[in-house]
Amino acid sequence: MNVSLAKRVMRVYEDFDQTIFGLSQRFGIHCPPGCGHCCSSPKVEATVLEMLPLAVELWRSGQAEELLARYSGQPKPASCLFFTPDELHFNHGRCSVYPHRPTLCRLFGFAAVRDKNGAPRFAACRFIKNMIPQTVAEVQQDLDAGGAVLLFTEAAQRIAELEPALDVRYFINDALFVALEKVGMYQLFAGDEPSDPCHSDVDPDYPPPIKQCS
Ligand code: SF4
Repeated sequence: MNVSLAKRVMRVYEDFDQTIFGLSQRFGIHCPPGCGHCCSSPKVEATVLEMLPLAVELWRSGQAEELLARYSGQPKPASCLFFTPDELHFNHGRCSVYPHRPTLCRLFGFAAVRDKNGAPRFAACRFIKNMIPQTVAEVQQDLDAGGAVLLFTEAAQRIAELEPALDVRYFINDALFVALEKVGMYQLFAGDEPSDPCHSDVDPDYPPPIKQCS
């Protein structure tokens, strides 16, 4: 159940990525190089379901128990556990779990909200707006003319529909730990060992492994 559900979440993520890639290709819209402002925020939210692919991968790659033990009864860091900051450049850094990141991490800066008339309003982040205001204006003109874009609410709904019982929203680290516990409990009761992503007979590419296969 966990693995197949995680695969279904990943397939929706692939659809999101394709739409965002299309937008990025057409307009050249992108994050400022190295920017990690959103990852260093303590307020990144995700649902348990959105974190399922990462939780499955962390169990598969043998990192889950250590993570659960390290933070058992301990306060978790305010910013995302998987943000690796650039020590020389404030608020810059990188995501160490990029292929498995949840919905908001994929959409932020590249999706739209609906305005009071129901029309899509491109929601570029303030850093993108400052860096390439003309491009942001061109994207909005395209949306006004009926161009394709992801809407935050509809994207979240698409994921939620896969398993409404896991559509429970927390700050990202808390959502991850709930997902890790659920996957761990499922494995315990189902008697499954975490599958090796490099040598598994259950679609080893979904979700794609974080570590490289040797
Ligand atoms: S999962 Fe990755 S992209 Fe999302 S907040 Fe954490 S470090 Fe940033």
